Amino acid sequence: MAKKWVYLFSEGSADMRDLLGGKGAGCAEMTRAGLPVPPGFTITTEACNAYYDSGERFPDGMWEQAMDALKHVEGQTGKKLGDAANPLLVSVRSGAKFSMPGMMDTVLNLGLDPETVAGLAKLTDNPRFAYDAYRRFIQMFGKIVLDIAPELFEDQLEAAKQHSGSKTDADLDSDSLKTLVTTFKGIVKKETGEDFPDEPYKQLEQAIMAVFRSWNNSRAIAYRNNNNIPHSLGTAVNVQTMVFGNMGNDSGTGVAFTRDPSTGEKKLYGEYLLNAQGEDVVAGIRTPHHISEMEREVPRVYQQFAEIAQRLEQHYRDVQDMEFTIERGKLYMLQTRSGKRGADAAVKIAVDMVQEGLIDKQEAVMRVEAAQIDQLLHTRVDPNAKYKVIARGTNAAPGAATGQAVFTAATAEEWGKAGKRVILVRPKTDPEDYQGMIASQAILTSTGGATSHAAVVARGVGKPCVVGAEAIHVDEVAKRFSVDSVVVNEGDMITVNGTTGEVILGEVPMIPPEISSHLGQLLSWADDFRKLGVMANADYPRDSEKARELGAEGIGLCRTEHMFMEVDRLPIVQQMILAKDQDTRQRCLDKLLEFQRQDFIGILRVMHGLPVTIRLIDPPLHEFLPSYEELLVEVTTLRCTNGDPKRLKEREELLDEVAQMREANPMLGLRGCRLAILFPGITEMQVRAIFEAACILQKEGVEVHPEIMIPLVGHVNELRIERDKLEKVAKAVMQEQGVSVDYKFGTMIEIPRACLVANQIAEYAEFFSFGTNDLTQMGFGFSRDDAEGKFLLKYVEDGILPFNPFQTLDRDGVGELMRIAIERAKTTRPDIKLGICGEHGGDPASIELCHELGLTYVSCSPFRVPVARLAAAQAALTKGEKDR
Ligand code: ADP
Ligand code: MG
Ligand code: MG
Repeated sequence: MAKKWVYLFSEGSADMRDLLGGKGAGCAEMTRAGLPVPPGFTITTEACNAYYDSGERFPDGMWEQAMDALKHVEGQTGKKLGDAANPLLVSVRSGAKFSMPGMMDTVLNLGLDPETVAGLAKLTDNPRFAYDAYRRFIQMFGKIVLDIAPELFEDQLEAAKQHSGSKTDADLDSDSLKTLVTTFKGIVKKETGEDFPDEPYKQLEQAIMAVFRSWNNSRAIAYRNNNNIPHSLGTAVNVQTMVFGNMGNDSGTGVAFTRDPSTGEKKLYGEYLLNAQGEDVVAGIRTPHHISEMEREVPRVYQQFAEIAQRLEQHYRDVQDMEFTIERGKLYMLQTRSGKRGADAAVKIAVDMVQEGLIDKQEAVMRVEAAQIDQLLHTRVDPNAKYKVIARGTNAAPGAATGQAVFTAATAEEWGKAGKRVILVRPKTDPEDYQGMIASQAILTSTGGATSHAAVVARGVGKPCVVGAEAIHVDEVAKRFSVDSVVVNEGDMITVNGTTGEVILGEVPMIPPEISSHLGQLLSWADDFRKLGVMANADYPRDSEKARELGAEGIGLCRTEHMFMEVDRLPIVQQMILAKDQDTRQRCLDKLLEFQRQDFIGILRVMHGLPVTIRLIDPPLHEFLPSYEELLVEVTTLRCTNGDPKRLKEREELLDEVAQMREANPMLGLRGCRLAILFPGITEMQVRAIFEAACILQKEGVEVHPEIMIPLVGHVNELRIERDKLEKVAKAVMQEQGVSVDYKFGTMIEIPRACLVANQIAEYAEFFSFGTNDLTQMGFGFSRDDAEGKFLLKYVEDGILPFNPFQTLDRDGVGELMRIAIERAKTTRPDIKLGICGEHGGDPASIELCHELGLTYVSCSPFRVPVARLAAAQAALTKGEKDR
């Protein structure tokens, strides 16, 4: 027996989405539930694949099965395809497993020809309706199946309206429509060289083939590539009895959600139009009415629809997005699917549905996409605001901000300090722009992608950012940018929406970020399910406070070098680095000690009762000095222009120092614990500051848990020496102060060798924190800046790498290094505390891996903490599911 290629709606069900596509499965399920669905059948996705396998021919038996199904439908409706006395008209609808814009549009009213159109006119006593249906059919078939440019038809429709003085297409009378039919057929003849197919079975065959072919049109392929939908799924074809919303004012068509998809409010949300068909509602031909008006216009139908909507939501236990048509007062359901929703709505709906008893807490936690809630934690453009977008770029870091445009980091810093709200606009940013970026409300660049310097830094510090807005032309010298005829000068107000990638002229109403009561509820359920702890990366007391507020259970990474970069400290740091004698250096260190003690008091106080992991100095020292290139330019200029000799001498000396410190590859040079070993004094000072701060607080009654993290250890001896040295300082301070503090010493694991000898290293480390940024750099042998700037994006585009390993942990390589490290470390110290503090700690896919590896916690930027809490719960629930 031939394979079953065709299913009547009454034969399918909701769980047959793979075979019947989403639309087919939905129509089948609604039919089974006894809802009013126009009869029809579905040709399977397998038939589509078989069509391609056999060189674009229908597989054996498919057409015959379709004809049998059609007979069945004819029996149910009492109408016949091509029968002039009582014609059956059908729609031919594509429908893949996942809803896919870019696939073929639906052909409506198939089955019309000169005879059936006359029959339809007579039968309905409504020639206007019949010819309207006919012209729509030729138009759609021409565009969709025959690939004729749609403007050719639209222009003629427009001309006909003008000619007859009609405002909308609903005003065209039957004679104008008849003429239009002839005109349309003329277009088809001219464009294809053939007559419009008047044979209904021929029309059906061609339409089905066109749906199959549309699976592989370039738009559909691009959409699948972008959304990771396998190309092997194929599309189903639905052939369904037409119902007519365009039979007068007791007819209509509409779309509606069971809940508001942007707020989540539980009430019907949607639009409809009377005397309209198919896509009229969304096509913008006439302005549709809000669904609530339907209650007034056609109360009986509205009631019935509201009941069905309610039933469908109960049945699917999720928000439904439905399409319906009313034919002369009778309601028909044409589609139902789970409704796409915004972040606010997703959270509210999940929580409400638990409270309504529709789903349980686990399901609610699983239903909200972790990455989506990121949006809720930033200032956002009010969704109801109207505004003018002047350019678009890549949405690199979420949130939105308004401010005055500035074009250099220095101005950003200066104006920012003066209390102005500024937005830094640059062609691209560099490390020296960092201070200016921090001082800005948002960052906008005309070049670069999602992993450019601007994007990475902005995400790290939680500033909205749009990059690669190529339409804008930035003139740094003249301090302005332009887009077409719009010119924005320094000081002009602009708004940057990093969630959408929009650049907007002027101010826009905003909504402040908040953890709504619904989100708070969802996250507290998530906390009950997750196994991973969630900590934050925070360098300052205000970040730490934010982190705590968002649910962080401690600080997983406090970087101390940012503290050295601040304006009041940098000169002292530089002096310390350049000091010729021990005395000068010590004096500098003593001054820095004062600052650092205050820093740590601030953070430890905010995080009272929770662990705070402090990483000792990590970057190479020359990062604190002026750049070699800039000094060289200055010295050369001074020499050539016979400038101030004192200044020249001073700069020459500095240049000399900087030149000596230059490294061919600073990333692999004198930094981390190597620096601490070669340059003693700095880390001792830091540890002293930490413990003095801890002791002071503890005496005040504040509970403190400092954890000292020694970076960049590759050999066990490096850690042994440093720890020995530093623990002595810690003990000395505690003795001086007469206080004993609960502390830990540990290390960052970021060098591949350290993973392999983790059993040795664990002897001197109470905790490991995976520095997955460096571990990825050294694991792949990529320098991140060079890789992201030069080849990484191409690697990802070409599929050489599945994704950017700096955003999502590389499971097979870097993940494996982590696994080895964990396994070996536990042989020495079974209860070792294990964490991750790279940017990956806030990425849901990486969090899932961390859960599988059995880490104790993940640490991420404060704004990602809620995302991490949710993602950690989802990882635990998914894993539980898999293990069962
Ligand atoms: P899409 O996937 O683009 O939504 P659909 O197949 O759902 O495409 O159809 C587009 C429009 O045509 C929808 O508004 C739908 O309601 C309408 N439509 C489809 N089939 C029929 C039918 N049998 N009778 C009346 N309207 C139909
Ligand atoms: Mg639809
Ligand atoms: Mg590192």
